[in-house]
Parts: sequence; C-alpha cells; structure tokens
Amino acid sequence: MPWVTRGLRNGVLTSRYPARPDGYGENWRGGVAVKPSPTRGPDADLPDICPTGAIAGAPHGGPAVDRGKCILCGRCVKERPDLFDFDRSFEVASIARPALVVPPTEETSASLAALREDLARRVRALRRSVHLRHVDAGSDGSEEWEIAALLGPVYDIHRLGIFFTASPRHADLLLVTGAGSAGMAGPLRSTYEAMPDPRIVMAVGTDAISGGIVSPSYATAGGVGGTVPVDVWVPGSPPSPFSVLHGILMAIGRLPMQAASP
Ligand code: SF4
Repeated sequence: MPWVTRGLRNGVLTSRYPARPDGYGENWRGGVAVKPSPTRGPDADLPDICPTGAIAGAPHGGPAVDRGKCILCGRCVKERPDLFDFDRSFEVASIARPALVVPPTEETSASLAALREDLARRVRALRRSVHLRHVDAGSDGSEEWEIAALLGPVYDIHRLGIFFTASPRHADLLLVTGAGSAGMAGPLRSTYEAMPDPRIVMAVGTDAISGGIVSPSYATAGGVGGTVPVDVWVPGSPPSPFSVLHGILMAIGRLPMQAASP
C-alpha cells in the first residue's frame, strides 16, 4: 500500500515526450547558436576562442559553428555574447553531417531528399518494437550516463517499445559513442556486420561525430563515421537524454527526419 499512496502523492514522473512537449528538456544546452548581429564581420581571432576548432567563417562573412565539433564548453558564449548563445532546444539530431553547421549552409535538396528516402525505406519495417545495441568506441563515459538514463522512470523508453539488446544479431539500431579509438575499430565493424538488415547507425555525441577534443590523435579515427556508415548524428558533449531519444525516434521514423539544425 505505501507505494500506491506515494505514487498518488507524487503523480506520474514519466515524460510524455514525444506525444506532448516536455519543458524539462529545455534545461540543457542543446547547442551553440550564432546570433544575428549588426556587429558581425570578419574577425580573424574568433576561431582561436574555440578549443576544438568548431568555429569558422561562414560563407556570408560571419562566424559559423560546427555542432559536430562543439563540446559545449561555453567559452565562445562567455567571450563573445554579442555573437553566440546557447540554444535550449534539445531536438538537434540530423540525418546529414553538414547540417550540423549553424547557420545552415547551402546543400543540394536532391542529396537531402535521397538521404531521407534511403533511411525511410530501411525503417519501414520497424513499425513495432525496436532493439538497440550500444558500442562504446572510446568514450569518456559521459554519453553512457545519458543513455543509461533512458531506462529510468523519467524517460522510460520501454513505454515506446524501444529496448536494448546484448546481441547485434537482434539489433535494429546501433548506437555508437566515443571518438573512434583504434582498438575499437574492429569490434565496431564486426558488430555492424553482425546486425541483420535493415540496420541503422547513430553517432551519439560530439566525440563520435568528430573525435571531439581528443582528436586528431594517433589513437583515434576522429569519430566513427569512417568505420561504420552513420545515418543519424546527435551532437552534444554529452547530448542530453532527450536529445538521444529524439535522435532514436527520428532514426526509426517516428519523428520527422530533419536535415538541418534548428
Ligand atoms: S561552446 Fe562549442 S563552439 Fe563555443 S568555444 Fe566551446 S567548443 Fe567552441
């Protein structure tokens, strides 16, 4: 009986996302945004602010931030608040690696349409339960904490028919974290090859996308994209559980496949 009364007193803690928006998700830094600013102009020192080389010049003359390289350290926001701010939206995953650059750069609509169609064709079979296999390819452990939170009472991904499996033979979606350490290249490739078709790959976190702050290095491949074919990119260091969940739902076709960062 005590657990019944406690449940009635505390109410339901589990998020309704994606059926309903969840304001809790806005508590994290989703990514760095570039402000539209009249003071914007050529600034040769700007890229030096960033420890990972995520800031570069945009074609229109202002700065651009590659969220696939950004570790969310906040240095640019602190030193140039006139140009940068944190974006609180957690829906930052993308099906196109170039679309992680903000402001968005020009891309051919034909190639984006082809990416969408290819992924949609492969996930058509995943209408019911989906099984995930996670591989740590040289992570610092932070992404693993966020992924593990998906199994707790707040996110409870089982309510969405999403489960983790220990075997790649039973997996539909491969979650990869880490900078792509040389020692994990073989096991990662073997895991991918052991999965049945259709198989989807998601790079979780800045390290998995670009190698983060530990790349380039003799020990890492600068991300996992050169080892396995990535379908969905989830930036963040680490991405919040909501960002990971958004990426998963996008990868399996339950949320719109966005090509560009918000
Ligand atoms: S918040 Fe990101 S873009 Fe800004 S300085 Fe840090 S790593 Fe670079």
